[in-house]
Amino acid sequence: MKQQVLKIAIQKSGRLTEKSLQLLRNCGIDIPAESRKLKASANNFPIELYFLRDDDIPEYVQDGIADLGILGENVLLEKKAAVETVMPLGFAKCKLSLAVPRNEQYEGLDYWEGKKIATTYTNILSNFLKKNKINAEIHSISGSVEIAPGIGLAQGICDIVSTGSTLLSNGLKAVEVVLNSQAVLISNQNLTNEKQQILDKLLFRIRAKQKAATNKYILLNAPDSKIDEICALLPGMKSPSVLPLREKGWSSLHSVVQENQFWEVIDQLKQAGAEGILVLPVEKMIV
Ligand code: ATP
Ligand code: ZN
Repeated sequence: MKQQVLKIAIQKSGRLTEKSLQLLRNCGIDIPAESRKLKASANNFPIELYFLRDDDIPEYVQDGIADLGILGENVLLEKKAAVETVMPLGFAKCKLSLAVPRNEQYEGLDYWEGKKIATTYTNILSNFLKKNKINAEIHSISGSVEIAPGIGLAQGICDIVSTGSTLLSNGLKAVEVVLNSQAVLISNQNLTNEKQQILDKLLFRIRAKQKAATNKYILLNAPDSKIDEICALLPGMKSPSVLPLREKGWSSLHSVVQENQFWEVIDQLKQAGAEGILVLPVEKMIV
């Protein structure tokens, strides 16, 4: 029987494209430089890539045209497709926000009562308004949302905001976050066992990479009398390795620390007598 391949839909050309390819390449998957740009097969892993518009990805995954998809949560939630969300991917972070003309006085959500809001995100906005018990009119438009207040189409907008410079040049300011979005991996709800196994392999690699990215390998020298104190600061994966140095009464400690804890720990380590501290990136981490 022919081996099944996992079909992954990614954005054809846009903000998600490079990062999606990078995610797979970081997992050791060899994807040829996109030549035809509709489909591409990996050379050393049973996956096939489909390059699509991000808006089409939820439906294609729902219908099984693709088994997996990578897209922004903003698009996923707006499209309401019946798919599984497998995991957040940590890139393409952006906010879907409400914005008003810059000189408007804005004091809170009550502002929107009876107002007209232009957006391409009608489903997400409608849920947000319902949740906050606000009666506002949603004006659905398909693009250039930020010009709507200027031409009298609406009093405010709901759109993706990154730097705020597009808003600023249209005389708007963001006043409320409706959704914090990032890229997510989605899957069809009825994968065959064989496809699920390929997905599990892929997830194992993605998690090993993600875990490695948030951890650092740390090496330091310390007097033997301080080892217990220093070990308590370095819980590591199991417990730190302690190796004797050539100099009597001294040891070398090796462990792993979380990136976000690491400056704090470094200070405590120095206070406890650690010397020659080295911090190295971790390439892959399997625990
Ligand atoms: P397509 O042609 O595929 O429909 P698009 O114009 O809808 O593309 P892009 O502008 O490439 O989409 O954005 C893709 C996704 O990237 C968005 O849906 C959102 O999740 C995320 N995104 C949008 N703007 C930003 C930003 N400024 N910073 C980071 N991520 C963003
Ligand atoms: Zn799109």
